Amino acid sequence: SNLATPLVNDSSGITPKRSIGYMSSLKSASDVRSLAFSGDICLEDLHFSYPLRPDMEILKGLDLKLKCGTVTALVGPSGAGKSTVVQLLARFYEPTSGRITVAGEDLRSFDKSEWARVVSIVNQEPVLFSVSVGENIAYGLPDEYVSKEDVIKAAKAANVHDFIISLPQGYDTLVGERGGLLSGGQRQRVAIARALLKNAPILILDEATSALDTVSERLVQDALNVLMKGRTTLVIAHRLSTVQNANQIALCSDGKISELGTHLELLEKNGQYASLVGTQRLAFE
Ligand code: ADP
Ligand code: MG
Repeated sequence: SNLATPLVNDSSGITPKRSIGYMSSLKSASDVRSLAFSGDICLEDLHFSYPLRPDMEILKGLDLKLKCGTVTALVGPSGAGKSTVVQLLARFYEPTSGRITVAGEDLRSFDKSEWARVVSIVNQEPVLFSVSVGENIAYGLPDEYVSKEDVIKAAKAANVHDFIISLPQGYDTLVGERGGLLSGGQRQRVAIARALLKNAPILILDEATSALDTVSERLVQDALNVLMKGRTTLVIAHRLSTVQNANQIALCSDGKISELGTHLELLEKNGQYASLVGTQRLAFE
């Protein structure tokens, strides 16, 4: 592969411009898309320290395989490194050592903006903009790709359409500064509708529900189930229901994956996961 091309030519002593060698090895947009749709994601021996705390190692040789089209729940105590894993997967930071591969290809051979197109991130505190609710759902997508029908379809699938049409101006209703006119559960469902419309093959979820009432939680949970279907999903899971239904559960503790398996397998093991389930505290954010 191009990645193996040496950046420094030893015999001549000439150092080629790094950017040229690097850029020429980047995968095309369509390659990134098809690899993301068809390949497993492997986190291989990840070590990581935040740039401002180089002395403090957060990830200490973390290995985890996300099988294409399946759901992996990441659970574990506060400070274990769960959100850090998400930051590396989203490429907000590069690992100190180790690598992330998609269908065997190093993530560093993908253009960052192409990678951003194939990954959807839904956080506990979704960012909404002070435009209409319809524009919020279509946010970041090129106009020519998004019809009003598609926006409505996504909103219906995200369980937020009925709420939107009850608003004074329907889809044209302004959501206020940072979406402040909506409740937490409504904001989350708008963010889920946005992710459905984006239709990225890879999904990263941080699902906290502490702020939601029971009705909202049910609506959000159902919407998330629709969103996860068929996507390679990593969910920082707080709810036992999500964890139980995941294809695999990874317990993150002290910068490594210390237990891996299905809900029943890990209960049988009677280790740290079983005791987290016992206390109903699967993740702390
Ligand atoms: P979790 O999500 O499992 O609670 P995090 O990945 O958020 O854990 O944090 C792991 C460790 O990394 C914690 O000790 C936290 O203080 C530290 N940390 C998180 N973000 C930063 C940052 N931007 N700079 C330095 N340290 C950080
Ligand atoms: Mg966290």
